[in-house]
Amino acid sequence: MKYEFPVTRTKNPKKRPEDETKLGFAKYFTDHMFVMDYDEGQGWHDGRVVPHEPILIEPASCVLHYAQMMFEGMKAYRRPDGVIQLFRPDMNVKRMVSTCERMCMPYLPDDLLVAAVEAVIKEDADWIPTAPGTSLYIRPFLFGDEVSFSVLPAKHYRFMIILSPTGSYYAANDGGLSATRIFVQDKYIRAAQGGTGYAKVGGNYGGGMRASQDAMKYDCKDVLWLDAAEHKYVEEIGTSNAFFMINDEVITASLDSGTILPGITRNSVIQLLKHFGIKVREGKLSIDEIVAASKDGSLKEIFASGTAAVISPIGCLNYNGTDYTVNGGNVGPVAQKLYDTLYGMQTGVVEDFMGWTYPLDVKVENK
Ligand SMILES: *Cc1c(COP(=O)(O)O)cnc(C)c1O
Repeated sequence: MKYEFPVTRTKNPKKRPEDETKLGFAKYFTDHMFVMDYDEGQGWHDGRVVPHEPILIEPASCVLHYAQMMFEGMKAYRRPDGVIQLFRPDMNVKRMVSTCERMCMPYLPDDLLVAAVEAVIKEDADWIPTAPGTSLYIRPFLFGDEVSFSVLPAKHYRFMIILSPTGSYYAANDGGLSATRIFVQDKYIRAAQGGTGYAKVGGNYGGGMRASQDAMKYDCKDVLWLDAAEHKYVEEIGTSNAFFMINDEVITASLDSGTILPGITRNSVIQLLKHFGIKVREGKLSIDEIVAASKDGSLKEIFASGTAAVISPIGCLNYNGTDYTVNGGNVGPVAQKLYDTLYGMQTGVVEDFMGWTYPLDVKVENK
């Protein structure tokens, strides 16, 4: 379907960030955003591109009290020829449907998400950075803003998309990878079976902050979550999917438990590993097996995957007061190869042999 969205251009364009190597993550926002309303009986209506600015919200809106909301995370990249492209947006559309179903919220029909992303990017395409490791982070989100304290699904919702030029995730600011320390969390849990672990919702994040804060006391950047029932099997790392290479096999938690967020990067990593001829298994892996593998030298690499950082290599696990160093604390060759391939495809410098990139009808002159 072809959508037309009215555009109100900003009268006060912001100053562009001067140094593309110091963008950080979601520190700057572009000039415009997308907004759309939903009313019961009417469906989604009045999609529009407007200046990025604060919004009015009634203090009794249900999202502020009962957290009926969801979000997505995706990125746009500028290819060397100036064409702007997305990465597997069909997967974001699918995940948005399953999250909305879990949260009793109305999802967007058909190709509306991608059309809305394209409409707002068209206005702000010249904000997309090109320095190594950079991209435009896209944050679509949807929330119930009916005025009600009843614990019932709202009858009115707002959907918005905001954009942030984003830098390399790593402190090593040449855009390259660096390995981080991770705290193995065996007290708090992120998600239990039957809960919302597979859905991209704010509540999962709010509930995880205590554990991440505590991890920082141990000089760790984030936590490795264990399963809720036995505090034994590895699940995710922070807000990313987790991969463990033991001998010549890469293992990641399976999606069957419903406690794992089905990452698009996770799915891409699994397919790429198979393409490279590396054994990969989706299943259970206990923290005890990882400790044993670290001791006997068969633990080769640990890395996390997600849209924000693409691939985050882990150089050390801190578990029960002991440090378990991985690959000498350095970035492993498998993590590096995955990062180079994925980020290369996304930015159009590596041939997309998987058919994952999605060029938009938007082009900017290169600087
Ligand atoms: C978004 C997210 C991921 C990564 O998903 P991608 O689609 O690869 O960005 C992993 N875990 C959690 C908890 C997430 O919210």
